[in-house]
Amino acid sequence: MASNNQNKPPKKLGVDEVTCDKEQKFGAEKMVGTANNARIRQAFSVVNGIQDLGLSSNPASNAGSECGTIEFTREDVEALLSEKMRYKNKFNYKERCENMMDYIKRLRLCIKWFQELEGDYAFEHERLRNALELSEQKCAEMELALRNKEEELNLIIVELRKSFASLQEKLAKEESDKLAALDSLAREKETRLNMERSHASLSEDLGKAQEELQSANQRIASINDMYKLLQEYNSSLQHYNTKLQKDIDAAHESIKRGEKEKSAIVENLSTLRGQYKSLQEQLSTYKASQDEAMRQKDALVHEVASMRVELQQVRDDRDHQLSQVQALTAEVIKHKELAVSSEDLEARCASQSNQIRSLSDQLAAAEEKLEVSDLSALETKTEFEGQKKLINELRNHLEDAEYKLIEGEKLRKRLHNTILELKGNIRVFCRVRPLLPDDSSGSEGKLISYPTTTEALGRGIDIMQNGQKHSFSFDRVFMPDESQEDVFVEISQLVQSALDGYKVCIFAYGQTGSGKTYTMMGKPGHPDLKGLIPRSLEQIFQTRQSLLSQGWKYEMQVSMLEIYNETIRDLLSTNRDASRLENACNGKQYAIKHDASGNTHVTDLTVVDVCSTKEVSYLLDRAAHSRSVGKTQMNEQSSRSHFVFTLRISGLNESTEQQVQGILNLIDLAGSERLSKSGSTGDRLKETQAINKSLSSLSDVIFALAKKEKKEDHVPFRNSKLTYLLQPCLGGDSKTLMFVNISPEASSVGESLCSLRFAARVNACEIGTPRRQTSMRSSESRLSLG
Ligand code: ADP
Ligand code: MG
Repeated sequence: MASNNQNKPPKKLGVDEVTCDKEQKFGAEKMVGTANNARIRQAFSVVNGIQDLGLSSNPASNAGSECGTIEFTREDVEALLSEKMRYKNKFNYKERCENMMDYIKRLRLCIKWFQELEGDYAFEHERLRNALELSEQKCAEMELALRNKEEELNLIIVELRKSFASLQEKLAKEESDKLAALDSLAREKETRLNMERSHASLSEDLGKAQEELQSANQRIASINDMYKLLQEYNSSLQHYNTKLQKDIDAAHESIKRGEKEKSAIVENLSTLRGQYKSLQEQLSTYKASQDEAMRQKDALVHEVASMRVELQQVRDDRDHQLSQVQALTAEVIKHKELAVSSEDLEARCASQSNQIRSLSDQLAAAEEKLEVSDLSALETKTEFEGQKKLINELRNHLEDAEYKLIEGEKLRKRLHNTILELKGNIRVFCRVRPLLPDDSSGSEGKLISYPTTTEALGRGIDIMQNGQKHSFSFDRVFMPDESQEDVFVEISQLVQSALDGYKVCIFAYGQTGSGKTYTMMGKPGHPDLKGLIPRSLEQIFQTRQSLLSQGWKYEMQVSMLEIYNETIRDLLSTNRDASRLENACNGKQYAIKHDASGNTHVTDLTVVDVCSTKEVSYLLDRAAHSRSVGKTQMNEQSSRSHFVFTLRISGLNESTEQQVQGILNLIDLAGSERLSKSGSTGDRLKETQAINKSLSSLSDVIFALAKKEKKEDHVPFRNSKLTYLLQPCLGGDSKTLMFVNISPEASSVGESLCSLRFAARVNACEIGTPRRQTSMRSSESRLSLG
């Protein structure tokens, strides 16, 4: 038994350890008070097979009191299990048996409780399982609901994200606004500070100003007095002004009179020239007749001399004969007897005296002749003298006339400049070409007419369209029969201006076939029909020669280019293909640049120094060739491009150190016909659009310049290559002339009307007063040409 008891503690200890472990694990402090826990612990103890428990002398506190509802605590069970039987007498089995019985009773009670407890547990277990199933069902439902909720939430999240993004954007915007606001705030602060500072200074100023005010008040009083005086002065000035206005009117009248006088002078001059020519012719005939007379006189003098010699001989002969006669008479006397021979001698004598008579007759005739010839010589001499006088008179007259001519020219120049000043520097000439044999036969006379009133003579043009008459007037209208020379005379003054240092532009505007190229270049192969460009250059070179004596030396440079579809082509380039290729791949070629002093430079453009008309005509030929090459290669006509001839002139007067820089631009514009008429498509369309664009930019520039005079707008020079190239020559200090060329063909009436309308608008423009570009020589002032 003892070994039985001794063996038990390790088992109990094991149980204790387990329970202790469990307790620690679950963190339960006491089993008492919590029925379930207590039950679990006790159940453990029982399951651990402690059914053969020993007897205990200390029964549980409530053991045996209530059989059915006895509750065991853990201590009770432990106390029950660790109960030891102690006996006074080891062999008192009866007592031991009783004790054991008691112990067993208690154990049974305990077991019974345990079993009840187990039943409870089973019931509990069932209930819990039901509850679990229920809760699982609920859980599944919940999960479903959750999933739905989650989807809903996801949707909401997406929406929220979107709104988040938009909000972020808004935020960014707001932030930038805020930054801007901050910036402006800072600026405002600064300005406020500045204001405060200025306020301070202003208040100082105010103080000063108040002081000044006082003094000013005093001054005002004195000024008021002065004002009264000035008012009086003003009224007198106004009087003076009205007087001046009258003077201006008078001056205008005198200009008109001057113009009339000018034309009278010019007429006078031409008649004088005619007179001079006829007189010179007369003079030469007189000279010839005088020479003839002199020759005759010489011959006569010669004849007279020979006659005289003859006479002398005859006289000698006579004297000799007389002496012979005397001798013979003496002989007769001496030899009276020689009577026979005397008759002979008498006969001889008679014949000889006859001879003598005839000879003296001859002599008399010769003398008469001599006298006559002497007379005629005298007459021719007097005539010659008279002629000489007449010639001298005529010379004086001519000198007078030339002086008058020079004076007239000076007056004309002055009047020209006055007219320009009054008119502004844009002028418009209209030229109507004659009907050509190839033209469609339309009677020009009926379509285009020229008013003959004194006011509109040479300045007006009327054109009929659909039975309606449209009248225009320009600075000059050239009728079809007016020659190239007639046209040039009118612009020679302008060309002269280029030598005087002005920038000059002359345009030819009009539809294709209206005579632009004819006007500018003339007819190839007909030197007498050459156009403005060759004539201008001739004049320039002539004038250059005559100005040499006044100390002027000029340098000239020529460039020629073509603007086709807004692309510049160099017409003097020697290797055209290479340059074109380069041009294609390098947009920088032929870039237009203006420097600060108003000089224009076109990169890579050929510029040639020239000093004679011959050189220029060679260059013109080269350019014409270049143009025609372009024509065949691109299958185009030259009339689809603008041709720009530029002559740069830089003159230097060594004696006065004066310097001038002039530019002469002569431009043959592309045909101005409108899109509808040419029925263009493709390349043609593009080209026509380019032409229309550049022509309209040209007019825009001209109109803007006219407006600018009234201080409006900017001038759109950059809208086309042409206007940008000519920018310095179109501004306020240059002279511009536009030829509007008109074709008389009936089919061109529409285009002609368009051209005339355009020209009339240009004609109405007033752009400033031209200015000469002169300067005194300095190291840097040579013309930059390029
Ligand atoms: P555009 O250059 O305007 O196209 P052109 O100058 O080529 O016109 O002239 C067309 C034709 O008319 C040419 O044959 C030209 O010789 C002739 N022509 C133009 N103007 C005159 C004129 N004033 N006198 C004689 N013929 C002219
Ligand atoms: Mg042409």
